[in-house]
Amino acid sequence: MPSRLSGSGGRSRVHGSPSKGFSVAVPEAVPAMTPSRSGGTPDLRITGTLFFVDSMKIKDIHTHILPSEPGSALVCVGCGPVPQAQGHFFSVGLHPWDVTGSDGESFRILDSLLSRPDVLALGESGLDALRMPPADIQEKAFIRQFELSETHSKPMILHVVRAFDRIIHLKKSLKPAQKWLIHGFRGGPEQARQLLGCGFSLSLGLAAREETVLSIPRGFLLAETDGKCGSDAVISRIAGILGLEPGEAEKLIESNISDFFA
Ligand SMILES: [Zn+2]
Repeated sequence: MPSRLSGSGGRSRVHGSPSKGFSVAVPEAVPAMTPSRSGGTPDLRITGTLFFVDSMKIKDIHTHILPSEPGSALVCVGCGPVPQAQGHFFSVGLHPWDVTGSDGESFRILDSLLSRPDVLALGESGLDALRMPPADIQEKAFIRQFELSETHSKPMILHVVRAFDRIIHLKKSLKPAQKWLIHGFRGGPEQARQLLGCGFSLSLGLAAREETVLSIPRGFLLAETDGKCGSDAVISRIAGILGLEPGEAEKLIESNISDFFA
């Protein structure tokens, strides 16, 4: 498979295993070569820091802790700062609990951080009916972040609590081009089916229901720790439920997460 370079000016396309040393930082304002899809003459673009890697190896799509193995997790850092940590991947977003209604500065920061090639997604953003601020203020902040996700062509990682009907309504009305992933999904098989049918992605942690793990088509299984355990614990549990070896489950999750960002 041809390797690709990606820069801060467009969608991050990060392939490869940074932990194996394929990650290369290139100074600012250096023309970057992007091999064309047809394999012909590469495009030349002026970009910022670049990452040059061959395949993605993320096995934890949502955590808050920098993993010991660079590139093995998508680390949510809120509105920043993003650590200068070579080979790691990040998501940035304004959590619904942190929305105030006067969030212009946060959105400006997010707009800037989303240009970084090591920031792969916007999140956590979302709706939480059990927490303040009121739903209309949370929703306004969510829609602003949806716009940023679309502008930067990066998917959203969503925190959704007791607001599934509303998030389904928003997805149908806003028609995002980017993927929306509901993290920490703990619902049952019927709700999982409904959300997958509406085009959502779901990631499962230690608290996921066994029957839900079994009900989700294997090609759609995504895993996360939310910073609450090691990724091995989540993957071992999924492997046990599915009757797979942990190594097989890890490969499945890595492949599905790689597809999520494709
Ligand atoms: Zn989280």
